[in-house]
Amino acid sequence: MKMPKPVIPVTPASSWQSQLAHAVTDPLQLLQILGIDPSRFPQCQLAHQGFQLKVPQSYLAKIRPGDPKDPLLLQVMANAQEMTPAEGYTHDPVGDLDAVRTPGLLHKYAGRVLLVTTSACAVHCRYCFRRHFPYETQQPARQHWQAALDYIQSHPDVTEVILSGGDPLSLSDQKLAELIAELDNIPHLKRLRIHSRIPVVVPDRVTRDLINLLAGIRMQSCMVIHANHAQELGVAEYRVLQQLKQAGIMLLNQSVLLKAVNDRADTLVALSERLYECGVLPYYLHLLDPVAGARHFDVPQTEALALMNTVRASLPGYLVPQLVRETAGENSKKPVFGL
Ligand SMILES: *Cc1c(COP(=O)(O)O)cnc(C)c1O
Ligand code: SF4
Repeated sequence: MKMPKPVIPVTPASSWQSQLAHAVTDPLQLLQILGIDPSRFPQCQLAHQGFQLKVPQSYLAKIRPGDPKDPLLLQVMANAQEMTPAEGYTHDPVGDLDAVRTPGLLHKYAGRVLLVTTSACAVHCRYCFRRHFPYETQQPARQHWQAALDYIQSHPDVTEVILSGGDPLSLSDQKLAELIAELDNIPHLKRLRIHSRIPVVVPDRVTRDLINLLAGIRMQSCMVIHANHAQELGVAEYRVLQQLKQAGIMLLNQSVLLKAVNDRADTLVALSERLYECGVLPYYLHLLDPVAGARHFDVPQTEALALMNTVRASLPGYLVPQLVRETAGENSKKPVFGL
């Protein structure tokens, strides 16, 4: 008997927006929902004043209740350690501000430019290297897009444009469609790359309309998702990633190596395995950028190299991400090699 074709559910446009609007933004409320004693996170309210907590329900649902060491919780929970001053940890650790060419456009590396499309993110990651980025002055509001487009237009060596943020997928489909249409009209652009944490944080945002938009342009579309742990890739995430892949969109993942979150070889191996199941290839594993407030996540380079050796011994080469470090002023992210 012929099976009926699966019906792809159409998510109402308001649904992902309302998930974003109703994210948990109070550390004590988050702990209460998870049944965790607030004494496990002293001074979390103060840390949250420095960088607001934000966790949408769909992400919260993947955190194990009652476990103060859950690897997803540690990525999003405001923590007193963020307030300890740390030498060498700064507000612009990767030299982004020196690369700004027009408001919101960063041209740092040959052949590709990065557009900061919005300051909004679906989740606030405590280790984020842009946690202090001056979005107020650098955000390409609508009136600045033209300057960015003109810059790209006049630089024929630029063949790839990277939409970043914040999280570019927190923009509406309409805003994205307008921007992407303008980019698609620039003949020397070959590739559109979207860097987003949203497919693993609010998978409902990856609507059929969005997939059609990315699949229907002249440029080749690539999405670099940002998962740090296999536990972030549940059933809903699997489903949207499969849909993106089936639409012909290249899927890559980048992670940040984070102490107590994913700094074990078996954790990294499980992440690569799960990514591949979801149709995603591991791309980069970043050493932590030394951003003020994140030192407690740092994994020393020697330890990272030892970890990578174990990971490499356990997986086919295409499932081993490249360990990289970004250094201000360099012409690319630099691979970190061991013996
Ligand atoms: C990371 C980054 C890129 C892309 O680098 P790839 O090595 O191509 O992934 C481009 N521009 C900026 C400013 C970046 O930070
Ligand atoms: S989603 Fe990305 S840009 Fe936003 S807070 Fe997390 S790491 Fe930073």
